[in-house]
Amino acid sequence: MAKDFLKDTQDYYDVVVIGSGLAGLTSANILARAGHSVLLLEHHYQLGGMATWFKRRNGHIFDISLHGFPVGMIKSCRKYWTQEIADSIVQLKGIRFENPQFSLRTTFDRKDFTRLITEQFGVPYETVDEFFSFARQMNFYDDQSMTVRELFEKFFPGRDDVVRLLMEPITYANGSTLEDPAITYGIVFSNFMSKGVYTFEGGTDKLVNQMKAEMEKNGVDIRIRSQVEKIEIGPDRRVTGIVVNGKRIGCGAIVSNANLKQTIFDLAGRENFDNDFAEAADAVRLNTSSCQVYIALKPGEEFENCGDLLFHSEHRGFDIDAMLSRDVSSRTFSFYYPYTRPGHDRYVIVSSTNARFEDWANLSEEDYAAAKLELSEGTLDCLSQYVPNIREQVDHVEASTPRTFQHYTKHWRGSSFGTKFEGLDISKRLPEQVGGLFHAGSVGIIMSGWLGAVNYGVIVSNDVDKYLTPAAATV
Ligand SMILES: Cc1cc2nc3c(=O)[nH]c(=O)nc-3n(C[C@H](O)[C@H](O)[C@H](O)COP(=O)(O)OP(=O)(O)OC[C@H]3O[C@@H](n4cnc5c(N)ncnc54)[C@H](O)[C@@H]3O)c2cc1C
Repeated sequence: MAKDFLKDTQDYYDVVVIGSGLAGLTSANILARAGHSVLLLEHHYQLGGMATWFKRRNGHIFDISLHGFPVGMIKSCRKYWTQEIADSIVQLKGIRFENPQFSLRTTFDRKDFTRLITEQFGVPYETVDEFFSFARQMNFYDDQSMTVRELFEKFFPGRDDVVRLLMEPITYANGSTLEDPAITYGIVFSNFMSKGVYTFEGGTDKLVNQMKAEMEKNGVDIRIRSQVEKIEIGPDRRVTGIVVNGKRIGCGAIVSNANLKQTIFDLAGRENFDNDFAEAADAVRLNTSSCQVYIALKPGEEFENCGDLLFHSEHRGFDIDAMLSRDVSSRTFSFYYPYTRPGHDRYVIVSSTNARFEDWANLSEEDYAAAKLELSEGTLDCLSQYVPNIREQVDHVEASTPRTFQHYTKHWRGSSFGTKFEGLDISKRLPEQVGGLFHAGSVGIIMSGWLGAVNYGVIVSNDVDKYLTPAAATV
């Protein structure tokens, strides 16, 4: 008989969290810590959402989205998770750029970027300083009409080399383009520039397992392989429960960590929203997706230090179409050494490229397999510039595409970084439409990435707590 993943669930919980991405996990933990009964439902067999990993024969472990995040993660993890989790967050100092315009290494912080842009790119110090200050003071309530392109034009007109240095890593980090509001760039870039790029020592599996232990300690009822099919809404337009694996469970509030559009249109149903809200939700643009190639060396094989994160491109200037094209000419390599996963002796490389869902969605199975092979082969060829013996050393190669991301996370179009900016407003206004329905997950560019997702989970938990206990907000 099939295993019942919902065995012994209660009939009712104060809160149901749909999805265990970093925002869902954080909301579940905070709300349980505040004394609410919480049910966390994840359709996959593993918690973490995009913050995930997989294992392959011969002891290989690959991290999917552990390439780097800003220092703010330390504080958020200490405050909303545990000191132990915060203590594993360490800086990555070897950030590298290799492209036809420049070749450099940096610690990716304001001091080092100021040095580079003044000394190597010859821009006056005052301009660079003014740019950093301008980007840093941008906040959500500012004028949002300026685009990233206009921001760069204001400070670095005609300097596609400087633009590339400033923009390429952020595009890889959250899928943003020159046409997005400058504020999304200002916030994310300044977060990184404050102290550089950080990682979780020990790997995503260690982080997620520590989070799971903390949630269990706080009483979260965690269920994997449990796909929510429906959000149930009463005649007074308040949530009353969910249907998961065919079973109804009642609840007082819902935090959906599923994709924003999936939450509104697939799970809740457009009939439960005002027309103008549903139309505004229709118009929300999803962010792009990703392809990755996972490469593990044979046990005992190693490569010389290549840096931690390498932004490789064969193009001149910052070219978003080239970055998204299936004809790959830009890649970000993450190099993992044994010291990034203490106790494990393997050398692993993950190559990431941003990608369009439509370029992969409709390929026949045969063409799809061929395209994946081509992606893997092209990546190994490219990588041989940095790891010359890679073809002899390699033990395992595997590719993922936007279809893979859609399959595992249910995100519409395999969106890696949620929605464009306008999604944030829709996400925040959800509870005004349906009482007790909250969304916490990558939206608006600002609230995506590991730090953005955790912090959005915190913000939304506070709102849920107020909804459930209006007299005393406790988180
Ligand atoms: C290739 C790649 C590389 C990345 N690299 C970085 C990086 O280096 N640094 C960084 O900061 N960020 C990175 N990111 C982004 C980062 O991983 C995500 O922004 C973040 O993890 C998203 O968290 P989330 O809370 O929005 O939820 P998600 O991770 O999107 O999780 C949503 C969860 O909901 C579940 N779910 C959906 N529908 C249902 C349903 N109906 N029932 C039950 N469960 C459901 C899904 O299975 C999933 O587990 C990367 C992303 C990708 C794809």
